[in-house]
Amino acid sequence: MPTLPRRQIARLALAALAAVPLLRARQAAAEAREPIRQPEAPGPAAFMQRAFDLRGAAARAGDQAYGAVIVRDGRIVGEAPSRVVTAGDPTAHAEMEAIRDAARRLGTRDLSGCEIYASTRPCPMCEAAAYWAGVARIRHGADAADAGPPRLARC
Ligand SMILES: [Zn+2]
Repeated sequence: MPTLPRRQIARLALAALAAVPLLRARQAAAEAREPIRQPEAPGPAAFMQRAFDLRGAAARAGDQAYGAVIVRDGRIVGEAPSRVVTAGDPTAHAEMEAIRDAARRLGTRDLSGCEIYASTRPCPMCEAAAYWAGVARIRHGADAADAGPPRLARC
């Protein structure tokens, strides 16, 4: 195999790195075009079951075991597993990704009237994101415990 000059290798590596956000955006847009499969019997138990299904998918993909869904008017409008490891993004918690998915699908950054179902109690970053998105209520854990509206933690 012929060797490439170091400068050319560095240029190729930078080009590949620059393509990552573009590829992620394309993947996210493609996912947002796929309709979300709605549960046969919608309700808190079914929504939390989906969050736990996503948690399982995250673990099988080698990621952190978290999943989250966003619900509005009894329908899932956004969902995601954690992508921290697979996307190499420390902010790609399941709740953040589900909020982004719902915003893309609904075509708005205003998620007022939405509830978030998370497999685990959301961390302060995700709770703040839910606050800024206008999410009305957080439910978490196997028993879908109601944590009330998201709060903005003091820094
Ligand atoms: Zn989080």
